[in-house]
Amino acid sequence: MESLKEYTKEEINNLEAFKSEIEKVPKTFRLIKLSDYEYGLSSNGKKDHRIIVKEERDKSKVREYSKNGKNYWYCSKCKSSAFLKFKYGILFAAIQHGNGCETKEYSFAKKIQSLLKQGKFNEAHGDVTPTNFEDMFIIFGFIIIGLSLVSMCINVVQLKLKNLFEELLMTILEEYGASQGEGGIIDAEEIREKSWFN
Ligand SMILES: [Zn+2]
Repeated sequence: MESLKEYTKEEINNLEAFKSEIEKVPKTFRLIKLSDYEYGLSSNGKKDHRIIVKEERDKSKVREYSKNGKNYWYCSKCKSSAFLKFKYGILFAAIQHGNGCETKEYSFAKKIQSLLKQGKFNEAHGDVTPTNFEDMFIIFGFIIIGLSLVSMCINVVQLKLKNLFEELLMTILEEYGASQGEGGIIDAEEIREKSWFN
């Protein structure tokens, strides 16, 4: 430990007691420097109800912890409360979390914090709502393109069906003509004219 002041703001008078307490902390925990964690707002905007802890090797990655009503901290991702503790004002964090618990980008955590500070809770929780006129215009454009594509598809299908029915009709009429024994295939145009003029 380089300097205790890097880890705690508390004055430690009884160094022996301090050492024996620290030695009780399992080896699965690491000490976090004051410069490697910060307090923030909880998801509902409560001050100092979140701690953002930088990872040991990659400082661009963090884990976030939230405070529950009983004043203990749990991991915001895997919800375990066994991974963070304070002793003598020193923060200890578990090196390993449960399966499926992932770190976040520090920049992302900061972005969420700034949204929470502005009171934009919905955005901080990941709801995308168009906030400016330009966005709404773009979304409107997408809707129009989508609708025109759908109507184009319907038109194509309609044309195909029309052709199919015409062909079918012609085939039926030709067969009909042949069975009438008029000697050969009747011209489709001729049939059309006949049916219009009688
Ligand atoms: Zn976790």
